[in-house]
Amino acid sequence: MNCDLHCHSTASDGELSVEALLALAQEREIDMLAITDHDTDIGYRRARKCDTSVRLISGVEFSCTWGKMSLHVVGLNMDVDTSIFVAAMARQSKAREQRAHIIADKLQKIGIEGAYEGALAFASAKDQIGRPHFAQYLLQQGSVRTMNEAFKKYLGAGKPGDVKALWPDLETVIEWINSSGGVAVVAHPLRYKMTRTKLRHLLTDFGAMGGRGVEVACANQTTSDTQTIAKIAQDLGLLASRGSDFHGSKMPWNALGRAVALTKNCEPVWQLF
Ligand code: AMP
Ligand code: MN
Ligand code: MN
Ligand code: MN
Repeated sequence: MNCDLHCHSTASDGELSVEALLALAQEREIDMLAITDHDTDIGYRRARKCDTSVRLISGVEFSCTWGKMSLHVVGLNMDVDTSIFVAAMARQSKAREQRAHIIADKLQKIGIEGAYEGALAFASAKDQIGRPHFAQYLLQQGSVRTMNEAFKKYLGAGKPGDVKALWPDLETVIEWINSSGGVAVVAHPLRYKMTRTKLRHLLTDFGAMGGRGVEVACANQTTSDTQTIAKIAQDLGLLASRGSDFHGSKMPWNALGRAVALTKNCEPVWQLF
């Protein structure tokens, strides 16, 4: 089975429309796909109306906090029409819209004018603005030379554009997902720059709160990285997911359907679907 349970469309910060993403998934012979846009199910809602041979699973990549850290949790296979889920999407959209204004104000204080309108021009809607859209604006007006530089200087952890306060905590997000019949999965566990001890602590907490899976096979990781997460998942009884985190050819993550394979000691999350 070629399952890709993490990717982005133009509904968030991906380069491809839902239709183009589905066509690519079909071409890559992906059996099961979850379009997991940041804090929105718009991508999935559009996809389920399309005619495709790819099996679609509903998905959202939620922004949330664990203590002082910000974290991404992928929700899979939720019933997106439950009232709890609809309210959760509205809550996240509002947070994103408010956050965009705060980021723009902070950038203005350090001499960057017009960032709100600038970022909005790259986003699909005012409540779907993300840091990559600010990065594109900074690039366009010559403040930086690459997307990466935009994150290093202005938008990454500890920089002016890093505004976490508006996201819900991890437990809230897990509750939203579980009560909509879905499965909560910690996204790209090695991208948080945590020690292995802290990562085990996070995943133990996550399991105790009702989280059930972790992405074992992600973008840009070595075989030894994959084995490390697989072992932690096995020890903690978490299911394993696989996702490319594909955003398009200009972003640094994997090509669609091309994350590494799960190791043999994993229980694949897609057995549930
Ligand atoms: P946000 O959801 O608005 O907090 O933005 C986070 C997104 O920014 C991530 O999902 C990535 O797609 C993107 N991102 C993070 N770091 C980088 C980077 N160094 N270069 C390009 N894109 C990045
Ligand atoms: Mn992204
Ligand atoms: Mn992410
Ligand atoms: Mn992602």
